[in-house]
Order: sequence, then C-alpha cells, then structure tokens
Amino acid sequence: MKVLVTGGAGYVGSVCTHVLVEQGHEVTVIDDFSTGNRDALAPGATLIEGDVYDLIEDTLAAGKFDAVLHFAARSLVGESVEKPDEYWHHNFVTTLELLDAMRANGVQNLVFSSTAATYGEPAQVPITEDMPTAPTNPYGATKLAIDHAITSYANAYGIGATSLRYFNVAGAYGSVGENREVETHLIPLVLQVAMGHRDKIYIFGDDWPTADGTAVRDYIHIRDLADAHVLAMESNQPGNHRIFNLGSGDGFSVREVIDMCREVTGHPIPAEVAPRRAGDPATLIASSEKAKTELGWQPQRTDLRTIVEDAWAFTSQLGEAAHSAQQG
Ligand code: UDP
Repeated sequence: MKVLVTGGAGYVGSVCTHVLVEQGHEVTVIDDFSTGNRDALAPGATLIEGDVYDLIEDTLAAGKFDAVLHFAARSLVGESVEKPDEYWHHNFVTTLELLDAMRANGVQNLVFSSTAATYGEPAQVPITEDMPTAPTNPYGATKLAIDHAITSYANAYGIGATSLRYFNVAGAYGSVGENREVETHLIPLVLQVAMGHRDKIYIFGDDWPTADGTAVRDYIHIRDLADAHVLAMESNQPGNHRIFNLGSGDGFSVREVIDMCREVTGHPIPAEVAPRRAGDPATLIASSEKAKTELGWQPQRTDLRTIVEDAWAFTSQLGEAAHSAQQG
C-alpha cells in the first residue's frame, strides 16, 4: 500500500515506518523534527520535511495515498498542563486539517495514535474500551476529542479508521529506541542512570495503593505496538471507527521496573523516593482482548525483561556512539 506516516521520525512513528517498509509498503513521512530524530528515519521512506498542518492538503492532493498513519503530536502530560494552546493546535486542529484533507482527496484509511490518557483515573483495571473516558490532563483531552472527531467523520463521510490507545510503550527495535531531547519516561531515565548519565532515579511516590506502594503501569514493547498498526491499516473498513487498547495486560510497579533494570544492566541504580508527580494515576493496566480478538493481534514480547533488554541494547549503543563522537 502507499502509506503516509505523519511523525515518522518520532519514537513510535519511526518504528512503524521501519516495519511498513520491511513489509513492502511504499512509505512517505512528514516530520518537522520538532521532537523526532533524523537518525530514526527508515531507509527507503520518502521524507517531506515540515509541519503537518501546512503540508497535508498538498501532500494528499499530489500523492494518491491508500492510508494515513497519524503520529505527529505533542505528547508530554506536564507540558500540556502548562501550554494547552500548543496541544489543542498541534494535536486537535492539525488532525481536523488532516481529516478534511483526507475527505477532500478521497483517502479513507486512517490509523490514529491515541492513548490510555483518554481514560484518566480508571474505576477498575484492566481497562476495557467501553470504560468511561475522563482525561485528567489536556494531552489526554486532545486525543479524546480527536477520537470523537474521527467517529463523526467515519459516520458521515465514510472514513475507515482505527484509534490505538497505547499504554506504556517501551523497548527498542534495531536502531530505533527512545531518544528524546527532554526525557520524562521511567525506563529510559533508569537506563540513563545505568549509563552514568544521571546519579539516581527518583521514584514519584511510594504511598500509592499498590502492593509495594509505587505506581503500576502496563509496559508494551514498541515492536508489538507496530504490528497492531499494520493490522489496523490492513483491516480498516470505510465508515467504521474502531478503538483498541494496546498493552501487555500485566502491571509492573516502579520498583519492579527499577529492579529489572538492575538485573539487566548489572548496575546498582540508586533510587530515591520523591513526591508524587501531578496527574499520575496509581495503576493503569490494559485489557487488550478486543485487539487480540478483532484485529488478530498477537504480541510476542510481553515480558518486562525483553522490553528492558531491548531498551538497554539501544541505550548502550547510543551511549557508545556519543562517546566515540566525542573522542573522534
Ligand atoms: N516515574 C518515576 N520516576 C521517573 C519517571 C517516572 O517514578 O523519573 C513513574 C511515574 O510517576 C509513573 C511511572 O513511573 O508512575 C511511569 O511513568 P512514565 O512517565 O514512564 O509514563 P506514564 O505512565 O506517565 O505515561
């Protein structure tokens, strides 16, 4: 298929682009590199550099695309609280522009990168797709508003779409992993301690209502996540908007993650308890039964060790490369 990937230089978008190219699809990426990396671009994909809002109409008019995978977005919870204007413009307004351009150019197949943050603090876990959505921050609110817009465009204009609500994406695929200028995610931060780039990891609260008092999350391997995108794209039906949660179905506490990182890296990884982070729920665990049944998704890398090992292989290789560049 001829596929347009917005945000194809970001963490999730670039891994999906690699997988699409490997599977024989013809891929064009739009990215402005505001948060993405040039190194992460898949060889074989065509790059259009710039902002999705500015480029989408002309790109779809010129390209005869079969499908769009839409990743380009702002995605930091804390930043979304401080700068909601950026989140509503870059996430919501840009996606409306994309939906209108798809409609105008007869492109009817969309896979949208949504999030568990649409649910907010869940009444119970595992979280199924029929549970109430009550985002606790502007980031989740923009993604939920987009999901609503997609549903109404699917109903009225025949777009076939799938929103994939990710839980905690982690791990790496080959040369692509988590490599952000501003890092806030647990696993890459813990691995930075193992690399010697940070002194310690702060545990945001040890008084949560969980077994060891630290917050519990469902970590999903980036490569399994990419498979779900391809399956969704290949099975979208005009006029139908599907929503699937994607996780591994298992919860791990912050302490369990740090312990696994200690085992995998052999580094003591000093940790210190700090206050809770604003907006964090205690426990988020996905039910991915619907994706398994309806999409035929079969995650292969669900154990935390594999996720951390792959993340560590990526982080240490990145550290070596930076070290060689400094020496050279
Ligand atoms: N966390 C932590 N220390 C850190 C970063 C994250 O204790 O330096 C916790 C965070 O409070 C949450 C979990 O680790 O409970 C996962 O956070 P992350 O930012 O990776 O993903 P989120 O669940 O916020 O999407």
